[in-house]
Amino acid sequence: MPRTAYVNGRYLSHAKAAVHIEDRGYQFADGVYEVVPVHNGILVDESLHLDRLERSLGELRIAMPMRREALKLISREVMRRNHLSNGFLYLQITRGVAPRDHKFPVAAKPAVVMTVRQMKPASKEKLEAGVSVITVPDIRWARRDIKSVSLLPNCLAKQQAHEAGALEAWMVDGEGQVTEGTSTNAWIITQDNVLVTRNANQDILNGITRVALLERVAEEGVTFEERSFTVEEALSAKEAFITSSTNYVMPVTAIDGKAVGNGHPGLLTMKLREAYVSYIESAGAGRAKTAA
Ligand code: PMP
Repeated sequence: MPRTAYVNGRYLSHAKAAVHIEDRGYQFADGVYEVVPVHNGILVDESLHLDRLERSLGELRIAMPMRREALKLISREVMRRNHLSNGFLYLQITRGVAPRDHKFPVAAKPAVVMTVRQMKPASKEKLEAGVSVITVPDIRWARRDIKSVSLLPNCLAKQQAHEAGALEAWMVDGEGQVTEGTSTNAWIITQDNVLVTRNANQDILNGITRVALLERVAEEGVTFEERSFTVEEALSAKEAFITSSTNYVMPVTAIDGKAVGNGHPGLLTMKLREAYVSYIESAGAGRAKTAA
């Protein structure tokens, strides 16, 4: 089926959709994005994603290109035109098109692109095996809380992971503490069953899956500490996992080629995954069924 993309006011064939060569996203990575999971036709935690989008834009002093309601209507139309019921919506807003100059253009209009992609849920085999991560130095800038399209360090690290046969790279700061994955947040469960993930400040992206899972954690009565942890602590943990809009909760069974716990997905990890999946499958607040 031919795919359709939304580009600056028009619905275009995905294959032919394009932005201007002087779009500042293309030249300076001067833009932000969101990836919103679509589960059974529902944009999961859409409001939280739009809150984060508005925050990212605000931090970069890029104007919201249109009202939230308009963004919501377009996302539903892109989903409808692509018959999407499971996968994700990609939404990107850049500062717009202007002659190349580092300073902000006076008159540029923010550019908006939306696409969707179908994705199957993680296979039983993948969930039973868990995934491997490697660790790499975190060489990113100091404002990782902004969901900017400037992802080159993340791409380099993800490629390194791929070449090492791993799914993800956990990035490690100058103090030896894990910040996060290249496109996921990092979690461990200690031998005493304490769930640990790094606190959300400018050092990491505050994942929407992270936020939603933390609510489930409180409901499940799991002991929880929001703090950083070292690679050594992760290696001696009982369980580990990653979270993101496309992975939900995914068990990590090896770090740098060494088994985490017994080398199998942890029980608490899988309980949290179930809690998260039943949350997104329930009629949770702030989510609207689409016409798709
Ligand atoms: N950290 C980084 C660096 C990311 O790119 C992502 C994915 N956007 C995440 C964490 C997870 O965020 P979310 O749960 O909103 O997908």
